[in-house]
Amino acid sequence: MAKRIRYEDRNSEPLMPPQERVKTFREYAFGYSVSLALDEAQRCLFCKDADQRCIKGCPIGVDVPGFIKKITEGDLIGAYKKIVEADPFPSICGRICPQERQCEGSCILYYDTVRGKKNKGLPVSIGALEKFVGDFVRISGMRVNIERGEPTGYRVAVVGAGPAGLACAYDLARLGHEVHVYEALPKAGGVMAYGIPHARLPRDLIEWELKKLRDLGVRFFFGHVVGKTIKLSDLLRDYHAVFLGVGAGRGGLGIEGDHLRGVYSAIEVLTRVGLLRADTFPQSGTPIDLGKRTVIIGGGFTAVDCAITALRLGIETHVVYRRTRETSSARQEEWDHISEEGAIIHWLTQPLRILGSEEGKVIGIECIKMALGEPDESGRPKPTPIEGSEHVIECDSVIFAIGQKANPVAYEDLPELELTKYGTVKVDENFRTSVRGLFAGGDVVNGGDTVVRALAEGRKAAQSIHKFIIEEVKP
Ligand SMILES: Cc1cc2nc3c(=O)[nH]c(=O)nc-3n(C[C@H](O)[C@H](O)[C@H](O)COP(=O)(O)OP(=O)(O)OC[C@H]3O[C@@H](n4cnc5c(N)ncnc54)[C@H](O)[C@@H]3O)c2cc1C
Ligand code: SF4
Repeated sequence: MAKRIRYEDRNSEPLMPPQERVKTFREYAFGYSVSLALDEAQRCLFCKDADQRCIKGCPIGVDVPGFIKKITEGDLIGAYKKIVEADPFPSICGRICPQERQCEGSCILYYDTVRGKKNKGLPVSIGALEKFVGDFVRISGMRVNIERGEPTGYRVAVVGAGPAGLACAYDLARLGHEVHVYEALPKAGGVMAYGIPHARLPRDLIEWELKKLRDLGVRFFFGHVVGKTIKLSDLLRDYHAVFLGVGAGRGGLGIEGDHLRGVYSAIEVLTRVGLLRADTFPQSGTPIDLGKRTVIIGGGFTAVDCAITALRLGIETHVVYRRTRETSSARQEEWDHISEEGAIIHWLTQPLRILGSEEGKVIGIECIKMALGEPDESGRPKPTPIEGSEHVIECDSVIFAIGQKANPVAYEDLPELELTKYGTVKVDENFRTSVRGLFAGGDVVNGGDTVVRALAEGRKAAQSIHKFIIEEVKP
């Protein structure tokens, strides 16, 4: 009998009600039960051309129908093994990948080509299934062995313990190389550890994923700001190869009033709360003062995460973004979540200047409404100001969640390192930089994208590093 195609009956993940979740940093998406996961897995059609659909849509190439098939067979360890062939951190990617633009956005049920209607069906919930499988293995305490190759005698330094550096370290260690990771902060994970709020990505889960690397013998050196406490050129001398995965964590606003008291960068707010637990001040020793009303500028993941954080601190939260919801880079469902929690979102609104009191403290932000015009170089309609629509939003603080840039401190001592016109590190298709033995990947190369892209680039760079040291370097 032909399989019934279930276009619309996608299973949603159960969510904590908005009025409860706004009071806690606990994760608010509860994840599938076994029965929901089995039911959702049954929706997959196991398309023969999945390599042109969901697999192609996944930046790291997870065998989507392969792992979903294992779920339908009740073989969750098998499903886990299938995922980690491509993606080392299933419970992280299952939670935070923008799947609607990736695997799910390429799912045949979404395109609904069978019925000839585009974008009418609801895709298989691939992300929630990946999270389910990752959580099952983690919570059940089952061990999945990760094999390590024979020691090669080669040593590689990885700079930055974000997803790019971690994925690179993971693969190099599996290939038998000795890997040392140098990280400026006291914890590994990069943006996953200090940026994304606990409510979206619980920290114990990152720690669990990191154990895989420790079991493989990867050593971490925290509190090492490469470029300050140790030079990149020293690492290049002391190791057979170096991978640079320092991300793009420096931000800037560049509008009038951005020096005022009460203006924060998103990273400062998120790090204070996410890493230093300012939400539990004075127990934590780290305060944060956003006043009673805050305005967040931006329309990406970072803006949404600042809103999640501010709402949980009990602050009236506004988000201003110069484009529309559809053209924003944050996940659509997350706009719904923060709106349900009470965030006020001002679409098509461009900040003009921040207003301050005589004492130099933020009192408001002047904005102008925008209209969509012709497409710009990114292909998105260009927002243009509507004359006479200037207005002020009164507030006590402003958080800028835009203008992410690479921080060059790690490679300032290498003038021969070629950069792009955007200030990112230039690499070839094998993630080799212009400096022999130095490879790079993740946000420092792509200027700021996604966790899964950083993981994919870290993995590809590991293969290039392996090839380089085996073929070009003596142990
Ligand atoms: C707030 C926020 C929310 C996001 N949400 C999502 C999301 O939901 N889903 C998604 O897919 N993507 C999200 N992103 C994007 C994603 O987090 C990044 O694309 C990804 O983390 C990039 O990985 P990376 O390893 O290149 O860099 P990072 O994660 O930035 O890690 C770089 C690491 O290098 C360290 N470092 C920097 N300089 C030095 C130095 N000189 N010496 C030693 N160490 C150094 C840093 O401390 C950091 O730990 C978000 C980004 C932000 C800022
Ligand atoms: S495209 Fe959708 S239905 Fe087809 S194999 Fe992938 S997840 Fe399953």
